[in-house]
Parts: sequence; structure tokens; C-alpha cells
Amino acid sequence: MGGMVSASALAIVTVDSPKAAVLRRKARPVGKVTRDVQRLIEQMLVTMHEAHGLGLAAPQVGEGVRVFVAEVDGRTIALVDPEVVRREGEEVATEACLSIPGVIGDVPRAASVTVRGKNRRGRRVTIEAEGLLARVLQHEIDHLDGVLFLDRVRDRATIRILTPDEDASAPPAE
Ligand SMILES: [Zn+2]
Repeated sequence: MGGMVSASALAIVTVDSPKAAVLRRKARPVGKVTRDVQRLIEQMLVTMHEAHGLGLAAPQVGEGVRVFVAEVDGRTIALVDPEVVRREGEEVATEACLSIPGVIGDVPRAASVTVRGKNRRGRRVTIEAEGLLARVLQHEIDHLDGVLFLDRVRDRATIRILTPDEDASAPPAE
């Protein structure tokens, strides 16, 4: 915890940014959850909230480390070195990504997952998730492997570029 200096939002790296290569690299494991990692998590939470996102992975703010944050149905999650240890079923739903603004597409994902990792205090945690949370966890962990949701779209006809009007009512991005 330490000083109560409020974290400020970071710039989100998009696919058309000069820094976009970080989105395609496999992020490196963190290991020990240091104060620097905790600070990154705080900044990522602020950035996600400002962008009204459901989730945000460290490469999306230019940091090639295995960290993501998510907020689904009022539950806030920050995970370090996450791993999907169980996948079951399949569901297809529309996704959007903060790094690919204004684009949506239908993505098949495991309907339920178990994810292990470390929380922001460095404690080992296990998260059982289904539905939207399961989808967000898989989307974020993909980011840590350099995979973007458009890579996972099975029916390319579902990929659409939103008009500004549609964008206002689009699903939250992650
Ligand atoms: Zn994304």
C-alpha cells in the first residue's frame, strides 16, 4: 500500500499506434509482486475505469508483463502471471477491444474457466468464472500472449466497423 498518491491514467496502445508491436509480443512473467507491479496495477485500474472498459492487460499500456485487470458485475480483479487451468464448453458473443477502437466481432470462447495467478498482494488465487467474466479473463490472457480478439473470430462476416452512433451503444471494450 504505502503512500496515497493517486494513480493517473496511462495511454492505451492501439493497433495503429507506433508502439503497437507490444500488442503482438508474448509478455514476460512477473514473478515477485513488487511495489512497482502494484503501482502498475493501480494505474491500469484508473486507465480501465477512465476508458469504461471491462478489462485491460499490461501490453495495452505498453508494458510487456503478465498482468491484467478486469471489472465485471462490480467485481474487480487484478491478476499477475495468470494461467487458465480449466476450460469447459463454448459460447459465442460479441467482443470489442480498447486497442482496436470501433471494431466488433463475434468470438467463440470457453463458457467457463478456472484461472490461477497472484493477486496484487502476491497471494496465490484461483478464480472460477463463467459467462462474461470467463470471456473477459480469456480476452485479457490472450493479450499477454500477443493474441487479439480478431484472431479468434470464426465467422469473419461478424466483424464490423461501428459508426460513431453505434459506437455509443457498443458492448464495453476490454
Ligand atoms: Zn482487448
